[in-house]
Amino acid sequence: MIAQSLFIIILIGAIYLFSKNVGKIRRNILLGKPADRSDNPAQRWKTMALVALGQTKMVKRPLAAVMHFFIYVGFIIINLEVLEIMLDGIFGSHRIFSKPLGGLYDLLIGGFEILALLVFTACVVFLCRRNIAHLKRFSGVEMTAWPKSDANYILTIEILLMTAFLTMNAADHKLQLLNFGHYIKAGSFPVSSFIGPLLPNNAHALEIIERSCWWFHIVGILAFLNYLPYSKHFHILLAFPNTYYSNLHPKGQFTNMASVTNEVKAMLDPSFVPETTGEPGRFGAKDVTDLTWKNLMEAYTCTECGRCTSVCPANQTGKLLSPRKIMMDTRDRITEVGKNIDQHGKDYKDDKSLLDNYISREELWACTTCNACTDACPVNINPLEIITEMRRYVVMEESQAPASLNTMFGNVENNGAPWKYSNADRFNWADE
Ligand code: SF4
Ligand code: SF4
Repeated sequence: MIAQSLFIIILIGAIYLFSKNVGKIRRNILLGKPADRSDNPAQRWKTMALVALGQTKMVKRPLAAVMHFFIYVGFIIINLEVLEIMLDGIFGSHRIFSKPLGGLYDLLIGGFEILALLVFTACVVFLCRRNIAHLKRFSGVEMTAWPKSDANYILTIEILLMTAFLTMNAADHKLQLLNFGHYIKAGSFPVSSFIGPLLPNNAHALEIIERSCWWFHIVGILAFLNYLPYSKHFHILLAFPNTYYSNLHPKGQFTNMASVTNEVKAMLDPSFVPETTGEPGRFGAKDVTDLTWKNLMEAYTCTECGRCTSVCPANQTGKLLSPRKIMMDTRDRITEVGKNIDQHGKDYKDDKSLLDNYISREELWACTTCNACTDACPVNINPLEIITEMRRYVVMEESQAPASLNTMFGNVENNGAPWKYSNADRFNWADE
């Protein structure tokens, strides 16, 4: 009874804390401006199935794709095992699914063990890639102490959880063979039976090992669940809604501002009456609350994989810009805004902004708007949209475009062409 009560208290506490932190992230995302992503649900489900569930954008790097797939499938399927562990914890039972599932149970436990081994192997390979092979993609100015540690913590925790799971099964298997206590014959152990010889043969020692691993495994999972909202690993949850709400328009299509469109239409047609007459908002984005909720959701979804930065021509040619940093800065800033709200109330304003305090103008103007980052992102994140919105603010609110652009803007305004001469003269070059 004591163990059951303790387990229930830990479970309720973990679920409460997780819900509270997820609620804060949801609140932060909804601080963004509205964006309508309710169109074409069939296409949206398809995109989510292909990109998030099918991981189709991962295959460009086959080794990483296979390893990531093991971890991803392992995570999803091993949750069935976690469900059993939770029910056992609540009801004080042991392997509660073994009787109702019969022979299928043996198959499932065997399958979980193979998956656990694959997850273990993939995590070790990923740790080696980061810490021994020092892959260039995992370095950069934004990959400071915390992002580096975060990745290592995630992989280490998963290795420890898989080790606990397999060791628990190994001890359980030996106890089953000894006909000890309530350890009924249940499950097949294709992997953990190799760990068995490393364990003692004494039944009481085995029971202590089995119980310790059981507690470590389930408390570890609940602790890991509560680590997610503070980690890039939160993408395992947000990748699904994020891909569902993907931008379905062609990648280069710019979002027109209604207030500007109305002005232009009114100039072209004096009889034009705009549909809305409300105050126009800020042009572009200076801070995170000027971005849409989708931009903010993307910031929380970023896995920090660096695929975007690795294909960015600006980054490749030594410019300051890294699209991964754009997403990480956006997430850090919206988190800061959320903390300010928690501490000082929703009307509190600090004197910081995403522009200048997090993202410099040099970074913004280094972008070629090629969209390679958006194309490369495995979860359909669009760093370019944040860049163009911030540029829009700099140009339209501050008139601080680089000199070369100001010349071009002046030419367009005066000549109807980006060059110094009128567009009527554009074929003069062919006269001779
Ligand atoms: S759109 Fe900009 S940030 Fe993205 S890859 Fe191209 S240059 Fe880099
Ligand atoms: S924006 Fe996409 S590609 Fe870039 S680091 Fe984040 S998840 Fe990876």
